Amino acid sequence: MTVQVHQCSANVIQELLEELYHAYSGLNEGRVADYIPELAKACPDDFGIVIATPGGRIYEVGATRKEFTIQSISKPFIYALALKLLSLEFIASKIDVEPSGDAFNAISLDPESGKPRNPMINAGAIAASAQICDAFPGNSEEQLLDYFEQLAGRRLSINFDVYRSEKETGHRNRAIGHLLRNFNIIESDPEPALDLYFRQCAISVTCRDLAVMATTLACQGRNPFTGGQAISPEITVRVLALMGTCGMYDFAGQWLHDVGIPAKSGVAGGVMAVIPGRLGIATYSPSLDSFGNSVRGVAVCRQLSRGVGLSLFNQYYQVDATIRRSYLGSQRTSRRWRSDRELRILDPHRDEVQIIHVQGVLDFGGIEQMAAELAKLSDKVRILILDLAHVTECPVESSGLLDRQLCSMEDKGVDILLSRAGRLPMVSMPDWRITERVEAYEHLDSALEAAEEMLLSLYDTEAPPATVTVLADPRYPGFLGQLPDEHRVVLAERMSLRLFESGDVVIRGGDPGDELFLVQSGSFDIALKISSGDGVHHSTRLATFGAGLCFGEIGFIAQNPRTADIVATEAGACWVLHRDDFDALSHSHPQVVISLLKALTCDMGTKLSQTSVQLTLMEHY
Ligand code: GLU
Repeated sequence: MTVQVHQCSANVIQELLEELYHAYSGLNEGRVADYIPELAKACPDDFGIVIATPGGRIYEVGATRKEFTIQSISKPFIYALALKLLSLEFIASKIDVEPSGDAFNAISLDPESGKPRNPMINAGAIAASAQICDAFPGNSEEQLLDYFEQLAGRRLSINFDVYRSEKETGHRNRAIGHLLRNFNIIESDPEPALDLYFRQCAISVTCRDLAVMATTLACQGRNPFTGGQAISPEITVRVLALMGTCGMYDFAGQWLHDVGIPAKSGVAGGVMAVIPGRLGIATYSPSLDSFGNSVRGVAVCRQLSRGVGLSLFNQYYQVDATIRRSYLGSQRTSRRWRSDRELRILDPHRDEVQIIHVQGVLDFGGIEQMAAELAKLSDKVRILILDLAHVTECPVESSGLLDRQLCSMEDKGVDILLSRAGRLPMVSMPDWRITERVEAYEHLDSALEAAEEMLLSLYDTEAPPATVTVLADPRYPGFLGQLPDEHRVVLAERMSLRLFESGDVVIRGGDPGDELFLVQSGSFDIALKISSGDGVHHSTRLATFGAGLCFGEIGFIAQNPRTADIVATEAGACWVLHRDDFDALSHSHPQVVISLLKALTCDMGTKLSQTSVQLTLMEHY
């Protein structure tokens, strides 16, 4: 799924970036790299800072749209490409993953195997490019740029002045290439590998591009701005680990200690830092310190890490935030209106249902909290409704644990109803073992209704009620059953039976309220239109009525237009009393009208009190 880019203006984060910009724009230490002649042309005053979030927000200050060459910041990405195109095992046989403690361009190879220490130094990066060249000799520049497009979310290009400048003067890198050839780390002519290496280093990026690429790494390799999976999560984890231990040249140890954020810098002045799961940070300022890292970039990251607690080793602990709410079935009923008979059956058993709303990421910590909550459930609980509407992610790594937890509930004889699992924005739901004991519902209300139906089918041991479909029959059990028989006979004569197909609109919002409905059969929903803040309208069910129940009474009594639609959700029939007949009755049979009004008042009173109990309980939990 793609998130919309949201350019953020005046807020505290933007202010923070502006403060950092002003604090460090006067820091004029260091020197612009000039060993590649073209790089010496950079303007030392250029300074940009960008932060991008997995939610698609971008904060930026300064020269964030100015292009410069990516240089060494291409290394983690090319290593990821090599891992993807070849295999982890093969690449491990060519390149180690140990910090070198040497300069970026050191000829730092294992004395015996000739393997470069890691892919973040030139030797390792050239070795990685060589593997790609060897395996895919026809691999074109277009393919390289396709890959970087996935990472940055826009088409990048190569700065040919820088490429040529480095190709002409990069004798040391050429020497490294040939040395790698000598050790058979590169198994063919090293020149194409060097050419690819010079090209990848000369890709032109902006600080903003680097922030998007950093956020792609922060989101397990999925670019949140395009939705594309540029790198697999498994490879992303490895790349980030190497950025953590080797990303800042031979300042890497001090960096991890002081800043604690996986990062990679390049000699053109870029720094890209990744806070996994949370942020991508990029800075651009061409003056470098003696290690080859951007002076201002290091200062900004150091300050961000300390000032607002971004170090990986300073993560805030979360105490039991996964369980949003957990309560028993008696605290929440479905919106299907129940007959007195059904209520008599349901009420003593409602607490055999437990409703748990979970939220956030169902990672190891989240599942541990869920497991602890489930362990507390009373033995009486036989139906569990798990509402997943607020779960933001269910990582594959932990989905197996979740599956096992749910299966163990099933084994104890608990039926599991999942509600709102499909509406999750970023969730890759695990392959749920949907058995006859696990069912998924689109709405919490439908799960609640299903739980009630399960209880009814378990406990409805009385003889089934006779289906009395004649209103005047003295055994009629529905809403009018409480009226004296002779009154019901009078009413029955004045009510007409109307048939509905499933989907028929019985009442439309705005219609005059001049009819009273008594359900003979079928099912009828009050559908309420809700408009959320962003102007999107959807409809939700306010209540459902089945046989024996009455609806439409409020508009009927108050003589007000209808406030909602009522739709038949199952074909059926209603007895309908029209206002003209009701008015005529109040002259001819005032006692009948009084007993009807009494019954309606009691009915509305019950509905009102149940509704206010539900509302109060909802506030409480
Ligand atoms: N192309 C540069 C080199 O190989 C990249 C160095 C870097 O950014 O660290 O010298």
